[in-house]
Amino acid sequence: MAKKTKTKRAYVYKEKSPLEHYRAGAFIVRCLDSRFWRVAKHFIKSLGIKHPDPAFPAGGAKVFASPFDEYETEHYLGQIAKSIKLHHTKKVMLFSHHDCGAYGGFAKFKNDPEKELDFHRAEHIIAEEVIKDKFPNLEVETYFIDEKGIIRTN
Ligand SMILES: [Zn+2]
Repeated sequence: MAKKTKTKRAYVYKEKSPLEHYRAGAFIVRCLDSRFWRVAKHFIKSLGIKHPDPAFPAGGAKVFASPFDEYETEHYLGQIAKSIKLHHTKKVMLFSHHDCGAYGGFAKFKNDPEKELDFHRAEHIIAEEVIKDKFPNLEVETYFIDEKGIIRTN
């Protein structure tokens, strides 16, 4: 006879999580670079956005404007589709940031902040078009983060 195995839940950390379903205030796409997590989080909170659905790919908005490979854009468009289906999302907020390694860092812009911002503005125009093409009714907002704060680019 097979030995009866008991599966135990051995918690390594305990904290309660809410189980209520929700409507996402926005789908957020921002870079995994942790230097700019805090400011983005505070900004989103300051807007009163509740239950954001987040995605943290390297480069943030880059996945829609100049993806690393052809599958990246499709993958994140799929994530937006799921957020809409599951959490009735009506808005996407795209972020990219200063000195982003996925873009080659600040050095790629010869340490010129205006050059860097202009480049990101152009990227955001493309990213917004790619998302609007697939989801015409979705509101898309684009932002650039630097060491002093957050700039709206559309
Ligand atoms: Zn980055």
